[in-house]
Amino acid sequence: MNIKFLDLYAQYLSIKDEIDEAIYSVIKKSAFIGGSFLEHFEEEFADYIGVKHAIGVANGTDALEIALWTLDLEPNSEVILPVNSFIATAEAVINSGYVPVFADIDDDFCISLDSIKRLLTPKTRAIIPVHLYGQPASMDKILEFAKEHSLFVIEDCAQAHGAKFCNKRVGSFGILGAFSFYPGKNLGAFGDGGMIVTNDEVLAKKIRMYKNHGRLSKYNHEFVGRNSRLDGLQAAILSVKLKYLDGWLEHRNKLASYYLTHLRCQKPHVKDNIYHSWHLFVVILKNRNLLLEKLKNNNIEYGIHYPKLLSSFEFFKKYRYENSKAILYENNLLSLPIGEHLNLDDIKRVIEVLNLYDNS
Ligand SMILES: *Cc1c(COP(=O)(O)O)cnc(C)c1O
Repeated sequence: MNIKFLDLYAQYLSIKDEIDEAIYSVIKKSAFIGGSFLEHFEEEFADYIGVKHAIGVANGTDALEIALWTLDLEPNSEVILPVNSFIATAEAVINSGYVPVFADIDDDFCISLDSIKRLLTPKTRAIIPVHLYGQPASMDKILEFAKEHSLFVIEDCAQAHGAKFCNKRVGSFGILGAFSFYPGKNLGAFGDGGMIVTNDEVLAKKIRMYKNHGRLSKYNHEFVGRNSRLDGLQAAILSVKLKYLDGWLEHRNKLASYYLTHLRCQKPHVKDNIYHSWHLFVVILKNRNLLLEKLKNNNIEYGIHYPKLLSSFEFFKKYRYENSKAILYENNLLSLPIGEHLNLDDIKRVIEVLNLYDNS
């Protein structure tokens, strides 16, 4: 039997009746853009994260870009982000007219504060901590440093729906938080989707207008905005899934702790003041290529997040970066299967193969 990396169809089947009903309700009301399903989900999501405002947008990349746009920084302001992330974090900075600066990571795979300190210049205006793989970055230290230097903090929560730092959900720490509902994320839509969360009323209103052609009502445009909306179908589907998210996270945590106890290879460092959402379970292997073979032969799917550091892309080389720690991981990261579609027996099989062949 195949051990799948992701099984969205199995997830759908487990909640099929509710999802089908939700989809039908949206069609019946023709509430495709805006409307009650979106409003309802935005309220639920804001409550879940513990913030005052949640604004649906078209995807997670837009969420980051719109968040940055809203801050209205001077052109060419420097924004520090981690050198190991999905490219979207950097794209959002560049597409907003700012300059990305890539900071090194710590052994929790999150942005390193020491590296941020070294990269700080008079042009630095913001930091984007990414809660990579589902592990919250060290928000206490980052917020303290940001306050000292008057920097904005925008959280990239694309992989960390429901994760907590010191018992508070991520997204509620920075001035703005950006989420993705890409289907494969822990809370995924049936297509693209994203969300910006904030406690700031003025920014929330500005975002609400900007993502909808600079307006609050039909033809009352107040400035040039754009179209980046979360649609009604996605919102209704996400409302159903949100009810199951905490259970899914608990399951992921159970599988992850089994991996952590029984795997012999180098395991991810987990801080003790956090609740991990385990979007990905990433190990470090010296002999990764051999292991990839063995996993394939045993019908175990895997991922690599990411095959390249952002500083390894030619078109990013012109920006300042630090990567001396991250580069040690670049060719050794491997994402093992984890998710609500798997049980402990599946995890045991993965562990067996890895422990048998890993000699790092
Ligand atoms: C998925 C992801 C994004 C982008 O989200 P999309 O919805 O795919 O645009 C941004 N940052 C990180 C860290 C991600 O994993």
